[in-house]
Amino acid sequence: MDFRVLAGLVLTSAAAFGAVREWGLDQTRPILEKTLLLRLAPELDALSPAERRALDALLAAGPPLQRIFERQLHRQALDAHRALLARKPPREDLLILYRLWQGPIATTLDNEREPFLAVDPIVPGKNVYPWGIDKARLESFMEEHDELKDDILNGRTVVRDASEVPADLASLAARPGLAALHPGLESRIRAGAAGFYAIPYALAYADELDEAGARLLEAASAIRAEDGDLADYLENRRRDFLTNDYESGDASWIMGSFGNLNAQIGSFETYDDELLGVKSFMSHSVMVRDAERTRTLRAALRGIQSIEDALPYESHRRVRETIPVGVYNVVADFGQARGTNTASILPNEPRITRKYGRTILLRHNIMTHPDLFAISQATWTAAVVAEHANDLGSEGNFYRTLWHEIGHYLGPDRDRGGRDLGVALQENADLFEEMKSDLVSLFAAQALRASGDFDEARLKDVYAAGILRVLQKNQPRRGQPYQTMQLMQMNYFLEGGLLQLDSGSGRLKIQYARYPAVVGSMLEKVLAIQAAGDKGAADAFIDRYDTWTEELHERLAGSMRATERYRYRLVKYQALGE
Ligand SMILES: [Zn+2]
Repeated sequence: MDFRVLAGLVLTSAAAFGAVREWGLDQTRPILEKTLLLRLAPELDALSPAERRALDALLAAGPPLQRIFERQLHRQALDAHRALLARKPPREDLLILYRLWQGPIATTLDNEREPFLAVDPIVPGKNVYPWGIDKARLESFMEEHDELKDDILNGRTVVRDASEVPADLASLAARPGLAALHPGLESRIRAGAAGFYAIPYALAYADELDEAGARLLEAASAIRAEDGDLADYLENRRRDFLTNDYESGDASWIMGSFGNLNAQIGSFETYDDELLGVKSFMSHSVMVRDAERTRTLRAALRGIQSIEDALPYESHRRVRETIPVGVYNVVADFGQARGTNTASILPNEPRITRKYGRTILLRHNIMTHPDLFAISQATWTAAVVAEHANDLGSEGNFYRTLWHEIGHYLGPDRDRGGRDLGVALQENADLFEEMKSDLVSLFAAQALRASGDFDEARLKDVYAAGILRVLQKNQPRRGQPYQTMQLMQMNYFLEGGLLQLDSGSGRLKIQYARYPAVVGSMLEKVLAIQAAGDKGAADAFIDRYDTWTEELHERLAGSMRATERYRYRLVKYQALGE
């Protein structure tokens, strides 16, 4: 055979199998240079000896849950990681990248996703569907098999194809306890020989869930005498792992009153499922309460009804004064929760939140981390005129975010016709809900100043954070609700004179005295659209305020982008010996 033909064949077959070569140092170096390393080391002195033992057990539950997450992301993740760990000499750079992305797929500086190890390229359904499955094929299968639809769309099942039936049957046969909790599962798996079927995470990840579950029970028994509510939650969550239904654990998580420890345990968020957007990915966050800040917050919450009553709209609702909210410091995060999340507001399932509400966990040591604050400060300095350079305070964004989360509990939750706002405002519902909460936070800041809960410096910090919030480094796409509503606020603030463009420098001046009037007037419009459930008015409001101009927005964005030193953030945890 001619050499060129052979070379062509090799190339073709390599492409057909999606073969990828691992990255060299020339490819990893630019990424590492753009990576900020953060370390979390919260104070643990306030914990009792029993809490320390429970904390150790909760941390020990992390690695098996981490493995579930990595398995969910990529079918070769764990094998590739094992091979990498065994390499001699080690490739530290690749190990860091694996840690950064929790798997073998990188996001490049051009925002492309590529394998950096010799594995298959990414697929939208990740490893919670048959690898590389076509969306249309799965949807047409569901149309023909209506009886399997609920199972396939369930947020905590893995979808399989016929080839996996024998292995799943064997795995179920080895676990009679699970078979008893999931009547009919065996016959559904057998029926899967005809096409597709779904198995609960309880079976798909049984080994890892057993290992993590055992640690949760250890933590529960360590803490039982001192913190019965936490012990109940941990025991319920362990059972949830078996039943594949989180209601009992979620109810005791939201309603329970815990001591110094809290943990977000399980799979909740679905944004890693790029095929159907329904599968939840595993997370585990272990946190210690910031007692002082939680106490201050609870005190301020006693005035919550008067803030609701002062909002510029009719028909005020009764607000529960025991919103389950606390201020925490992250000890360690695993799986999908790993990174720089500033708050957890969970759970998401409507059938559960309707009955029990949601719990809010503010992550103080992330929101106020000095290295992240330095990044905000650089952005700020690039966007405002020199006289405002020192306006940003390290706690401003924490209090702004805190009252944003509480803001979700205030204002209309239905329109005047009794319709759910999601139904009434459709694809604009999230944007309006988030914009309302942003504005309620700034509105509440005045009320909290008046009641003495905020001093003058804190009010000023929150106001500056409210401006930082609306600065955009890139023009938002209409499909991005957060960025779009932030841009709308910026434009409204400009129109109302709270912000002014200094045309010489292209930067912003802030008229703090205009804050109450401008925020109050925008909030009034947002609440009116929500209360009326008026989709047309919502569209018109967005169209009017989402403008982006070269002279103002793009120029400002460019000067903020020029300060960008880091693209990626890698978080390490002292409690894990890192
Ligand atoms: Zn929100």
